[in-house]
Amino acid sequence: MFETVIGLEVHVQLNTKSKLFCSCPTSFNHKQNTNTCPTCLALPGALPVLNKEVVHKSIMLGTAIDATINKTSFFDRKSYFYPDSPSAYQITQLYTPIVEHGKLQIDFENASHKIIRINRAHIEADAGKNIHDGDISKVDLNRAGTPLLEIVSEPDMRSAEEAILYLKKLHSIIRYLDIGDANMQEGSFRVDVNVSIRPKGDEKLYTRVEVKNINSFKFIQKAIEMEVARQSEAWEDGVYEQEIFQETRLFDEKNQETRSMRGKEEAADYRYFPEPDLLKAVVTDEMMATYSQIPELPDAKRERFIKEYGMNEYNAGVITGSVEMAHFFETMMKEDGVTAKTATSLLTVELQGRLKGDMNITNSPVDAEKLGHLAKRIDDKTISNKAAKEVLDKLMQENLDVDGVIDALGLKQVSDSGAIEAICDEIIAANPDKVEQYQGGKDKLFGFFVGQVMKASKGSANPQAVNEVLKAKLG
Ligand code: ADP
Ligand code: ZN
Ligand code: MG
Repeated sequence: MFETVIGLEVHVQLNTKSKLFCSCPTSFNHKQNTNTCPTCLALPGALPVLNKEVVHKSIMLGTAIDATINKTSFFDRKSYFYPDSPSAYQITQLYTPIVEHGKLQIDFENASHKIIRINRAHIEADAGKNIHDGDISKVDLNRAGTPLLEIVSEPDMRSAEEAILYLKKLHSIIRYLDIGDANMQEGSFRVDVNVSIRPKGDEKLYTRVEVKNINSFKFIQKAIEMEVARQSEAWEDGVYEQEIFQETRLFDEKNQETRSMRGKEEAADYRYFPEPDLLKAVVTDEMMATYSQIPELPDAKRERFIKEYGMNEYNAGVITGSVEMAHFFETMMKEDGVTAKTATSLLTVELQGRLKGDMNITNSPVDAEKLGHLAKRIDDKTISNKAAKEVLDKLMQENLDVDGVIDALGLKQVSDSGAIEAICDEIIAANPDKVEQYQGGKDKLFGFFVGQVMKASKGSANPQAVNEVLKAKLG
């Protein structure tokens, strides 16, 4: 029996206003090669200057993963040639990264947890982009010099499931901290997966294969499963030594397979050496004091929702799973008199169920203020839960006001006890035989009376009020 060993490298694009070593903007939807300057074009004589915002965001990440934040860290040159890197080297941090020895907790469905150690997070510059267009290839350097934080885990994960839980947690932390948009499709959260296998019980690490170029959680899971299958088969067929060697493989989405891309370079191939053009990166006490004040993270928020609102684990997990959901919920709760129970079900069941196609929580036609207002109208008994669904249907189609829709659809509940009493009296008077049977001990008939009153009110009576009035009148 084999055990799977996985270590992950994640490149997070930081959402700073300007690039890592120059003042060019980091936005990409500009004409090719316009967000460039002598520094990021690597023209001779241009010198890099470290962007402080990158240091600030690294402190935030380091704090969130309980890591050591080095007061001084250094930059190194990693030499390689590729058309999208005009300097023919990448500035990175090999020997002393800014963040080291962190950890991250993953949570399993059965409520157990596991700690995954994080070896380091280091700052580095991104390359530009090669655009292949038929017979010609073009280079766009707008992205060259954009800041990345590369977060490297220890080989602590033992299944594809654990790897995905780790990635989702890390992704969510980046979003909560708002240090990057972490959009996988657009390449601002890029994952390299290192996979090896070993006989169960063996402590030694075997040859790892690195799979690159995977841009969705689903494909990462797939790539790991395929790599594990390939390696175990080779082992069982007695050709492990020949077929499994340290290399970089590509995940081919179309053919659903991993393919060899190149043999794995060793550190020596990159001729790493200390970057001579940059000073060390310094984290001052003031920076630490300011940027270690990070927003509430998903785990803490989840625990708080459970404690403060009596929310169950499942709902708390769903709502805090993404920062957008969590903020949406918290905005709803700002409306006076809204209960967590009503807000939870309106958000996770009713609204989510109506967000189809391209719609999601961030572009929902009904925003958090409006859904909060609707929740308030349930909780102050203006409308029933059932009526709220009708109101929401209408609000999804048109940008209208909650109270206006309630009025227009005539959905206001009658809670006024005078009106309800009058209807109850009518029903009681019309059914003397049923009253006698009920009072003679046939308790089940109570439902009949409630039903009749609701019917007579055309469903607008508040059922709770009807219950109370009937109990009092029937004895
Ligand atoms: P490189 O940049 O050369 O890929 P790094 O040290 O940055 O090297 O990353 C190595 C990654 O591979 C880490 O995430 C580490 O946990 C993981 N790793 C190392 N050895 C193994 C192994 N035998 N099996 C699986 N993952 C491994
Ligand atoms: Zn520039
Ligand atoms: Mg790697």
